[in-house]
Amino acid sequence: MAIPQADRRLRFRSRESNDGEGGINGQERSLWSRIDTGDLLRVGALIVTTILVWVIEQAPWPRWIAIAVACGGLILGCWPIVREALEDLHARRMSMELSMLLAIAAAAAVGELVTSLLITVFVLVAEILEDLSMDRGRDALTNLMSFLPDTVRVVEGSRVHEVPRDDVVAGQLIAVVPGGRIPVDGVVETGRADVDQSRITGESMPVAVAPGSRVYAGSITQAALQIRVERSGEESSYGRIVAAVREAQSSRAPVQRLADRLAARIVYIALAAAAITYIVTRDIHSTISVVIVAGACGVAAGTPLAVLAAIARCARTGAFVKDGAHLEQLSAVDTVVFDKTGTLTRGVSRVVHVVPARGYAEGELLRLAAAAEWNSEHPLGVAIAQEARERGMEVPSPQAVEYRPGVGVYARVDGRDVAVGSGRRAQLGSGTPAVGGDTRAGDPSTESDIPTPPGATSVQIDIDGDRAGSIFLVDEVRSGAQECVRRLRNTGLRLLLLTGDDAAAAEHVANELGLPVDAVRASLLPADKNAVIARLREQGRRVAMVGDGVNDAPALAVADVGIAMGTGTDVAREAGDVVLVSSDPRDLATTIAIARRARRIILFNFVGTIAVDGIGMLLAACGLLGPIASALVHVGSESAFILNSARLIPGRRGRPLRETRFH
Ligand code: ADP
Ligand code: MG
Repeated sequence: MAIPQADRRLRFRSRESNDGEGGINGQERSLWSRIDTGDLLRVGALIVTTILVWVIEQAPWPRWIAIAVACGGLILGCWPIVREALEDLHARRMSMELSMLLAIAAAAAVGELVTSLLITVFVLVAEILEDLSMDRGRDALTNLMSFLPDTVRVVEGSRVHEVPRDDVVAGQLIAVVPGGRIPVDGVVETGRADVDQSRITGESMPVAVAPGSRVYAGSITQAALQIRVERSGEESSYGRIVAAVREAQSSRAPVQRLADRLAARIVYIALAAAAITYIVTRDIHSTISVVIVAGACGVAAGTPLAVLAAIARCARTGAFVKDGAHLEQLSAVDTVVFDKTGTLTRGVSRVVHVVPARGYAEGELLRLAAAAEWNSEHPLGVAIAQEARERGMEVPSPQAVEYRPGVGVYARVDGRDVAVGSGRRAQLGSGTPAVGGDTRAGDPSTESDIPTPPGATSVQIDIDGDRAGSIFLVDEVRSGAQECVRRLRNTGLRLLLLTGDDAAAAEHVANELGLPVDAVRASLLPADKNAVIARLREQGRRVAMVGDGVNDAPALAVADVGIAMGTGTDVAREAGDVVLVSSDPRDLATTIAIARRARRIILFNFVGTIAVDGIGMLLAACGLLGPIASALVHVGSESAFILNSARLIPGRRGRPLRETRFH
């Protein structure tokens, strides 16, 4: 297969520097080309008509000419407004279009032809601006899909030809160039490469792939590969994330309903204020101005735009927020509770010591423990099985395996009762032998003099009811966990570390992360974790829980916002309201920062709209703001609020870490 020379120069890049480029450039259209030509022509024609009417009014011509021209202009200009107003009437909704139509009609009725035309121009321009911003918000989500390459090289015999991404079907062989993004889910046929899958599987280290390895859409390959397509487009792993994000887009956050209610109220209030103004002042100008000045699109359109843009921005950084409501809850969180293993630590443990009790051999101890753990998905179990495998042991298959979340496993191996676990007796039901004893990490007790690394987790092994020894394991703190903790603490959030592990190991991790010891709750069973969260919520705290394991799912559900690690189990990812796809704890800090920023922006728009409308109506009622000035204030303030929301729309090359400034 021939690789064009230019592509060879592409280097393997980190996930950060890859964000947002790729096919997006092709999709980004200039602002002008997005505006509907019909709309532009309409506005242009209306401006010309307005000038014409003004000129005719100055000239000594009969009045009916000006009226005729103005009517033509109004019919042309108001047509789209009337259409929307009729829709709103049909849906029994009070809307801005309705109130503006009333104002335009009133201005025309009292003979203010130029005024009514000008207001129409303003309303049309405002709607175009609003559509543009909403479009960009939606594009931000659509663009997620174009993170994948637009075209794919399909290999047929000795020929390679490019086809659009959507035309690729399962079974085809495709070629990916070094530094290129893999466009499909599939299996490697030829080539070896390190592949960065952090976007998809959450694995932060590049994975070495070879023929037979499975690769996922959205990963980046360091070397050329040929891949047999299994799933493409929306069916691929990446496509499904995007589809889920799109679904989130159609959900409505509670704040959006609030915004709609406020917008409708403002229209009613404006009409009532206009009525009062007319009764008191008998001045039709002031009355019209009162109706015109009150704008509500800053909240009605600005709020969903902010939510949409924030969700897209989170997705860019690698956090998948399942619903606008979750974004809202996340912005209000004041306590973040972390599960230790697999969340703040990598959850990839390593056996450092196997310490048999008197009368037991090290190899036998590990062999039986590994057998009991053979099918475990708990990081400790995986590590023990892995250690036995690495030592080349023949591991018997276990019978009657029983897993007690947060405690350990029990199994019959070679006719013996083997229990591997934390050493808590109380939680095991009757009929099963105790799991472990009371040995603690850092205290290998009398069994051995071998020093234990600080922070090691100890697992006790009982054979036929006798303490047979301990296995010590260590786990690494995730890169980025420290920064996450620092950033969240700087934001003023209260942090808690929950773990089923013992206090010594937990405090060691807390120390490493810069968490105070009083933020640690150790030796908890899964149910205890729920209880801690429930208690916090009873105290009026708004709690986000971050977890990864099967046994974290209930806690994720109990919390106000459940945040699952992308590397975690499917159960956790299902239960989570937010999934940190790349499992980088820093993405959590960024996501919370984005949610809070969205909240601030929405709040600003709410307060701003109420202030501008209130003051505007007062001034208009007093005759200090004419109809045209009112229209300017209306359009100007609404546009400002919508643009304020649009600031959240992620840039084309928005790098996740740029968010750090929003601590
Ligand atoms: P965390 O809260 O840190 O995620 P878990 O609740 O999953 O930890 O587990 C708590 C403790 O229970 C572990 O430290 C270990 O002692 C014991 N344990 C749980 N599952 C297993 C297992 N499969 N094998 C051995 N020990 C286990
Ligand atoms: Mg865990």
